[in-house]
Amino acid sequence: MLFFKKINAFQPASGPPPRTMFAFFRWALSGSWFVLWVAFFFSALAGILEVLTALLLGSLIDRAVDASPTNFFNNQLFFVIIFISFFIIIRPIAFGVASAANAVFVTPNINPLTLSRLHRWTMGQSVTFFDDDFAGRIAQKQMQTSRALTDVVTEIINVGAFSLASLFGSAILLTTIDPRMSWILVVWLVVYFLLIRAFLPRIRRQSASRAGARANVSGQVVDTITNIKTVKLFSHAKYEDQVALKSMEVFRKKAVSFGITSALFRLCLMTVAGTLPVLLIGGTAYLWVNGSASIGDIAASGAVAIRIAQMTGWVSFTLMTIYANIGEVEDGIKTLTPPHTLVNDKKAIPLSILAGEIKLNNVSFTYGQKANGLRDVSLNVKKGEKLGVVGASGAGKSTLVALLLRLYDTELGDIFIDGQDIKQVTQESLRRNISFVTQETAMFNRSARDNIFYGNPNATEKQLIAASKDAEAHDFIMELRDYEGRRGYEAFLGERGVRLSGGQRQRIAVARAILKNAPILILDEATSALDSEIEASIQVALHRAMEGKTVIAIAHRLSTISTMDRIIVLENGGIAEEGTHSTVSYTHLRAHETREDRVCRVRLEKKKGGGGGGGGGGGGGGGGGG
Ligand code: ADP
Repeated sequence: MLFFKKINAFQPASGPPPRTMFAFFRWALSGSWFVLWVAFFFSALAGILEVLTALLLGSLIDRAVDASPTNFFNNQLFFVIIFISFFIIIRPIAFGVASAANAVFVTPNINPLTLSRLHRWTMGQSVTFFDDDFAGRIAQKQMQTSRALTDVVTEIINVGAFSLASLFGSAILLTTIDPRMSWILVVWLVVYFLLIRAFLPRIRRQSASRAGARANVSGQVVDTITNIKTVKLFSHAKYEDQVALKSMEVFRKKAVSFGITSALFRLCLMTVAGTLPVLLIGGTAYLWVNGSASIGDIAASGAVAIRIAQMTGWVSFTLMTIYANIGEVEDGIKTLTPPHTLVNDKKAIPLSILAGEIKLNNVSFTYGQKANGLRDVSLNVKKGEKLGVVGASGAGKSTLVALLLRLYDTELGDIFIDGQDIKQVTQESLRRNISFVTQETAMFNRSARDNIFYGNPNATEKQLIAASKDAEAHDFIMELRDYEGRRGYEAFLGERGVRLSGGQRQRIAVARAILKNAPILILDEATSALDSEIEASIQVALHRAMEGKTVIAIAHRLSTISTMDRIIVLENGGIAEEGTHSTVSYTHLRAHETREDRVCRVRLEKKKGGGGGGGGGGGGGGGGGG
């Protein structure tokens, strides 16, 4: 067993995944070839032994025909011992080793090897890649592709090696009877493979499209389940059911046409398989009639013929699954292996931060469309400055932040941090130096501890508690208790933190940012209204998090806006106004403002003592000055 060096199932691949089939297999399997070849060898050995059973049977019959029954066992003692030990010792051991090689060393390792490589590659895709697809579909594709690839490898070893060796051995055995017999086998094999060649491409095509339809079903289902609250809120269960049924119907139809093809294939195949025993047994019987073959030869060639005929059944079935799986791998390659679009520059170096100054030079980005996003934004945020970004929904606030984090590359213009173009530093170092506090979808269904440690996995327990206390999160965390009875920092937060209130989620996010302690802090404030007590504690937490940092805050609440050094108002992707909260008129906000925006603006205006409380219209207070 030492023979099998274990495959390192999580060994990274070298380079990006190729987009052609063979190259992709080589990429996915690199590092495992030794084990694969050894398993192949043992499987082939087992295949050869299968032919020996026929040989032994033939030889036994010939000996029986030649000997007299009375002293057969005495005369043939040696042969009998070989016969028995072959069947109850050698053959079981060979098959046991062959199957262990595959089941213990190959299958359990190839799947994680491929899956981890695909997953790593997928994780490196840009945000656009995920924007454009269902999360569920991508996940399903990863699982499907690695499972299909593993099945192909396992089947090639289990069935491919075994049957090739069996065929090869059979040809030799038949040659010993009469070379013409092995020619029959060869001709038959050619017909068999022609039949397979005629059918398999169709099977592969149909299987790929069935796999695509299946992934769509799971994408659709996961999308609905992820948004289950919205579905219920709008009482759209029926509509979602329709959507799901539609994709299931596509999948069902594809499965039916796949089924028809494979049934037809089997029918033709079994007919071809049936001709082999007729030809081989008939052929040897003919030779026996003419005195050039023994009765044992008839038995041996009969055993071989029946074996091969049976084998063609499962070999073709396996070939069908191999082909179907190749189709699935092909489909996976299409979805999962596009080259990364947002990559580190070849000469990228880590970002070195001295001050934390941010500069945008005429930045435009429209998500590849004509409008939307940001247009021609120039901005300078000084060291330690706290910049508030306000604007109606859709004004481009999140886009601005996404560009700063280099989740997308700008279409025009450049972004600099401390004079370094963010396209020319490593993405990892850029994001390490920026804390991003957002409450939406930023929680994992892991423990509170793990969620906060996400900010800095190397932090100590003491730092963790201190950060949680600074973020005003410690007290409520201590009260947490999840469905499995885990308490405090051990309690799980639910998918996307659903088990927490909006205010609690935000404080966890602040604790994470405090622990990360990056020189630049980006804050995407929750729009949801919070009660004043929680709002006050979040403000305290945020103040602590902002201390000494350069801050860009997408602000919705009066309390946050009023603590900013400077405010920019975004409108339709451009900076419409700039100033401090006492100089900005906020008129630009009015066109699209929500009720909450309005309350916030009116309060601001009141605070400034300018443009009278109530109205939706009006000039918006003492704007301009300064
Ligand atoms: P805000 O954060 O101010 O609400 P966003 O920055 O999210 O605004 O959006 C600005 C504009 O860009 C909107 O018109 C929005 O429709 C568009 N947009 C946002 N995200 C995408 C995306 N992934 N693909 C295409 N357009 C987008």
